[in-house]
Amino acid sequence: MKTETWPYFGKASRLVAALGLLVLTGLNAQPAFSEERAKDLFGAEKLPTATAPQSFGFYSKGCFAGGVAIPMDGPTWEVMRPSRNRRWGHPAMIALIEKLSRDAVADGWPGLLIGDIAQPRGGPMLTGHASHQIGLDADIWLTPMPSRPLSMAQRETMSATLMVDEKTHLVKDALWKPQHTALLKRAASYPEVERILVNPGIKKKLCDTVKGDRGWLRKIRPFWGHDYHFHMRIGCQPGSPNCKAQEATPDDDGCGKPLAWWFTQEPWRPNKNPDAPKARDVMTMANLPKECRAVLEAPGPASAEAATYHGGAVPVAVAAPEPETPSPPATTASGTDGLSGAVNAFTATPEVGVPVPRPRPPGN
Ligand SMILES: [Zn+2]
Repeated sequence: MKTETWPYFGKASRLVAALGLLVLTGLNAQPAFSEERAKDLFGAEKLPTATAPQSFGFYSKGCFAGGVAIPMDGPTWEVMRPSRNRRWGHPAMIALIEKLSRDAVADGWPGLLIGDIAQPRGGPMLTGHASHQIGLDADIWLTPMPSRPLSMAQRETMSATLMVDEKTHLVKDALWKPQHTALLKRAASYPEVERILVNPGIKKKLCDTVKGDRGWLRKIRPFWGHDYHFHMRIGCQPGSPNCKAQEATPDDDGCGKPLAWWFTQEPWRPNKNPDAPKARDVMTMANLPKECRAVLEAPGPASAEAATYHGGAVPVAVAAPEPETPSPPATTASGTDGLSGAVNAFTATPEVGVPVPRPRPPGN
């Protein structure tokens, strides 16, 4: 499933070209900057840029400007794992999540529990996802919003429901409800949504049970993990000429041979090289689009609230924003996930009690 896998970023020729460009444009005044791990720099950002929304690069190799936050609470949603500060996205993404939450409630789903969207300025994350870097990806739990409001503490610790049996890779029938299908169908109905990643067991369940209109199944893509949440990806938005689109999904329901592959041994073989560093762990600024450096350096709004989306017009910093004081990346980075400072490029991403997409075998 090449299309779902992040591209290798380390092609020597591209790296040389990127570095050359930085030298030519005079951006390489601090050579060491290019060597710093991008995830440390982007993981330390607390606020977005107070500039026009724009995505740079690809879902798994990029950053974005002009992000806005979804409020912690809305009438039809709650943000989970708030300490991670990953409730940021392109305004079109945030508006769409809010719309989905309203539509889902009208469809009979009690409300959305929102997982990770993106860091304030996107970029690679310290833990978890390979993608979610350009503000156009969002994880939404397959657990409905409880009737009583969750406290901030509960949102940090409440576990999600695993929908899939880990041995058979099939959906647990006792847990799957027609409302799950309706939620995924609603999300797939939006023209902005290009892909929805789900566990292969969930895709199979839909393939086996959806009657009538099956056109939307084209957007539902099987992938490792994604067994307690689904991942909604929208396309590059207007105003982002340097956003790299993903190739279109094949024009069928995807229920045939490609799905059958997931129910063979091959996708589940043990990782032959489990200690190999992940792309996100070793990416430097030189690997990201050159605009991402400007994204890191751009001024931010006065506060998170000033860039929080409450519907209507997209918020921007009202007052002339103060330039951000650069902070040492490592310290800020360790706070949000409770990780020690010992995380480095060659350690596996630690499990921190938060469900994240599981590691996948290489070579797929
Ligand atoms: Zn995701």
